[in-house]
Amino acid sequence: MRLYNTMTRKIDPVETAHPKIARIYACGPTVYRDAHVGNMRTFLVTDLIARTLRHQGFRTTVVQNITDVGHMADDTGLGEAQLDSAPQDKMLAESEKTGQSALEIAQRFEHRFHHDLAQLNIYPADHYPKASESIDSMLDLIRKLIDSGNAYVGIDNSVYFSAESFPSYGALSGNKLDALRPGHKFDPDENESAKRFHADWALWKSAGDTRTQLTWETPWGRGFPGWHTECSAMSMDLLGESIDIHTGGIDLRFPHHEDERAQSNSASSGDHEVVRHWVHAEHLLFESRKMSKSSGNVVLVQDIIDRGYDPLVIRLAFLQHRYRSQMNLTWEVLASSQELLDRWRRKVNVWSQSASQAMDQGLIAEISGHFAEDLNTPMAINALRILEKSPQISDGSKFEMFSYLDSLFGLDLTREVGHNLNSLSEIPPDVSQLLEQRNAARSSRDWALSDQLRDQIAERGFTVVDTSEGTQLETTKT
Ligand code: AMP
Ligand code: ZN
Repeated sequence: MRLYNTMTRKIDPVETAHPKIARIYACGPTVYRDAHVGNMRTFLVTDLIARTLRHQGFRTTVVQNITDVGHMADDTGLGEAQLDSAPQDKMLAESEKTGQSALEIAQRFEHRFHHDLAQLNIYPADHYPKASESIDSMLDLIRKLIDSGNAYVGIDNSVYFSAESFPSYGALSGNKLDALRPGHKFDPDENESAKRFHADWALWKSAGDTRTQLTWETPWGRGFPGWHTECSAMSMDLLGESIDIHTGGIDLRFPHHEDERAQSNSASSGDHEVVRHWVHAEHLLFESRKMSKSSGNVVLVQDIIDRGYDPLVIRLAFLQHRYRSQMNLTWEVLASSQELLDRWRRKVNVWSQSASQAMDQGLIAEISGHFAEDLNTPMAINALRILEKSPQISDGSKFEMFSYLDSLFGLDLTREVGHNLNSLSEIPPDVSQLLEQRNAARSSRDWALSDQLRDQIAERGFTVVDTSEGTQLETTKT
């Protein structure tokens, strides 16, 4: 498999530390709210990588952390100048707002996060470490970094990483130290005067007098972890000092992953990159707007289900766009993806009734090859459309190929198999509506409109049959 590597800025072959074993770490959700569909697009990338590698005979171990402490409301390092109020731990801010404990909030949203993943056929990770349960590993990591001279205890009893102790700082994101000006990150829990250098960051933050929840006793006093510390500790704890692939959204490239790289490389033995391949997913827009709580433009998986869509329509819509390009999800895209998914499932049902025939191995290699080439899922979807329409390939073979390839696409393409082809419950509401309109057009002898509606119904995979007893719908057989 080949994937774009943020570190080398090119598409590199995935070279795992051990043959046919892939260790993957995915930055997970901060569980103070529901994950939105943008988050899900990023989480899907990890699933697609793992599915592709398993298809190639790899054994995969996937770890995805649950951030339930330490992620500040502005940890991006980008928009702090525009902030009106001081950033705060996202978990604690929600706790203050709702009166519930941070733990209760975390449990509720973690549960919902797993449910959302399942709705999108994203395989569960092998491990979901929680930051609040990994404090010992973080303290071990911090101790190591102090011993190696990469970290120091500040006068405020916070522990800081010394950016200058890591000469290749900036290699991942391009934000080199000499270009970073003082104040490029603002964090109220970090005392600028306690830092030796402005680009240093807190590995461990002193709790002070006001913070009452989510603090731990340490040799340096009571405090809580910095967000970047969590991912270094949890990833190396569960995957060791060689992580084959690390994924996350593009906003995590800096400072989260830049800092994580500095910490992990400095704490590991020997002189090697802990993460061999960095993969970043581009952001999702919804109806051309950035998805953010403050702008009120947040769409959840459940919102899409509530509008009558199958949640796997979201997955299909994502697959039609390359993960490395920004994507604009719209209700129109969802509607056309629903049509395509319905049509494929109906056809797979029809094809399942033909005798099984051998798969076209050339086509299988071509389609799985698209996944393996930096997740070129739009090409894979196109190839599936061509296969669907191909007159050379028998129905029995199409059935086998769609079923087999679904281990990569994850769209439940065989879901309709065994369902009664003509049962009315299988006819989607919009098709019934079109049929009603056509019946009305025929009654008023508007043949042109009636023909036009017949074509629209055919587009949706149904054939209109006019009999002496009335009009019937049949699934279109190709
Ligand atoms: P969070 O729960 O905010 O920590 O984000 C979880 C993951 O979703 C991270 O990998 C983010 O980079 C990613 N992410 C956040 N916003 C978007 C978006 N609009 N589109 C795609 N991924 C996103
Ligand atoms: Zn992370």
